[in-house]
Amino acid sequence: MAKTDFPLIFERGKEGRTSYSLPELDVPEMDLDSAFADSYIRKEAPNLPEVSELELMRHYTALSRRNYGVDSGFYPLGSCTMKYNPKINEDAARLEGFSYIHPHQDPETVQGAMEMMYDLQTSLAEITGMHDFSLQSAAGAQGEWTGLMMIRAFHETNGDLNRSKVIVPDSAHGTNPASVSVAGLDVVTVKTNEHGLVDLEDLKRVVDDETAALMLTNPNTLGLFETEIMEMAEIVHNAGGKLYYDGANLNAIMGYTRPGDMGFDVVHMNLHKTFTGPHGGGGPGSGPVGVTSEFAPYLPKPVLMKRDDHYTFDHDRPASIGRIKPYYGNFGINLRAYTYIRTMGAEGLKKVSEHAVLNANYLMRRLEKEYELPYPQHCKHEFVLSGKKQKQLGVRTLDIAKRLLDYDYHPPTIYFPLNVEEAMMTEPTETESKETLDGFIDAMIRISEEAKDDPELVQEAPHQTVVKRMDETTAARKPILRYQQ
Ligand SMILES: *Cc1c(COP(=O)(O)O)cnc(C)c1O
Repeated sequence: MAKTDFPLIFERGKEGRTSYSLPELDVPEMDLDSAFADSYIRKEAPNLPEVSELELMRHYTALSRRNYGVDSGFYPLGSCTMKYNPKINEDAARLEGFSYIHPHQDPETVQGAMEMMYDLQTSLAEITGMHDFSLQSAAGAQGEWTGLMMIRAFHETNGDLNRSKVIVPDSAHGTNPASVSVAGLDVVTVKTNEHGLVDLEDLKRVVDDETAALMLTNPNTLGLFETEIMEMAEIVHNAGGKLYYDGANLNAIMGYTRPGDMGFDVVHMNLHKTFTGPHGGGGPGSGPVGVTSEFAPYLPKPVLMKRDDHYTFDHDRPASIGRIKPYYGNFGINLRAYTYIRTMGAEGLKKVSEHAVLNANYLMRRLEKEYELPYPQHCKHEFVLSGKKQKQLGVRTLDIAKRLLDYDYHPPTIYFPLNVEEAMMTEPTETESKETLDGFIDAMIRISEEAKDDPELVQEAPHQTVVKRMDETTAARKPILRYQQ
C-alpha cells in the first residue's frame, strides 16, 4: 500500500499549469452580469490545484489503487454476493445495437433490445417458478416495495381492507421491515428458533385475519434453508395471507428449488448479486419482480408483451400499481444478467449453486475450530460465525474485521443478522478457488491467535492501510468532505 501512497493532486499544483486546452472562442463572449443574478456569480477563482494532464492521471490512478474490489481480492461480504463479474458481460453491454439506443426511440426500431428483455423475463420466470416478471425495479429494496404494493392492491381489490400486517422474521435483512413501512403496512416480527429457522409455533401465534403477507428469504440470512417452508406457506395461505420471497440471494438454490414451488406468490431477485451485475459502489442495480398469474394484473406498467414475434409495451393495465421507475429498468444491468444466464446455461447455474454451497461449507467447517458457530448444521451459500470467544479476550468483531484489512482481505458482513452476537456473516461465492479460501482461513486463524497473544495488535488495526481506524460515528455525523492539508 505504501508504494502507491504518493501525494494526491492537492499538494502538487503549481500556478499556471493546466491539463486542458480549449479552442479559441469563436462566438461573442457572454455578459455574465446580465445573464445571472449577482448572487450566482463567483467573485474569486476557486482554490483548485493547477496540474498537468499527467499529474491528473496519476491522481486518479492513485485513488483507484486505494480501492478494493472483487477484481482485486477476496470479498466475502455476506448477503452481498460479491462474485466475479465475467468480462464477456461488458462486451455484450458495449455492442452498438444496445449501447447507442435511446428509451424514447420508436419501439419498432428497438425490437432486438425488447426481445432481450422479454427473454430475460422468461428465464427469470423459469429459474424462480413464477408466471410473469417485470424488470422495472432498480434494486432489491425497490423490488420489495413493488411486491408489497401489489399484495396491498390485491387485498384491497378483494375488499380485504384490514390486511395491513406483514410478518417478518427477526433475522431479516433491514430492507424488509423498511419496505413494509414505506408500503404503508405494519411489521409483525416472528421469532427464530434454536436451529436458526422460523419458529412455526410463533408463526401460528402471529398469523391472523389482518395478515397481508409473510415476507421471507430462503435460505435465510443465517445461510440456513427453511426446511418447513411448505408448512409455513400452508399456515399463511389458510389464513388468507400471501407469501413474499426476498430473492436477493439465489446463489444456493438455482436449479435445485424455486420459490414458486415453495408456495411463494410474489418474489424479487437481485440481478446485481446472483446474476453478476457489478455492484458495491452503490449501483446501478436491478431488482425484477416475479408473480403468480393471480398477481399479474397488478404488475407495474407498462408490461412488456410479445404478440406474433412482435414486442410492445402495454400501458392499458387498469389494475396495475402504476409506473415505479422511468423507462423499463436498468437496461445495462439486465443485459449483463441476460448474458450471464445465456453463457452459463441451466446446467451452469446449477453448478454455481453447488460450488457456492461447497465453498461456504468448507470455510465454515475449517473456521468453526477457532470461532463460535451458533448454528452447527450445514449451511447454504453463506454462514454466520460469532466473535463471542474473542470478545472475552477484549477483541471485538469490528477489530477482527479491521485486522483482516492488514492481510489484504475484505471483511465479512459484521453485526448482522442481529440475532447473532458479534456476528460475522461470510459468503465466499462459487468463483473463488480453494487456494484463495485457504489463504483467508489462514488469516482468520492468525487473527484468532493474535487475539490471544497480542490483543492490542488487533484492537488497533488496521496498520497497513492508507486510512487508519475511523471514528465511524463522527465520520457519519460530521463528515469532512473537503480536503484539508
Ligand atoms: C442485498 C439484499 C437486499 C437489498 O437489495 P438492494 O439491491 O441493496 O436494495 C434485500 N434482501 C437481502 C437478503 C439482501 O441480501
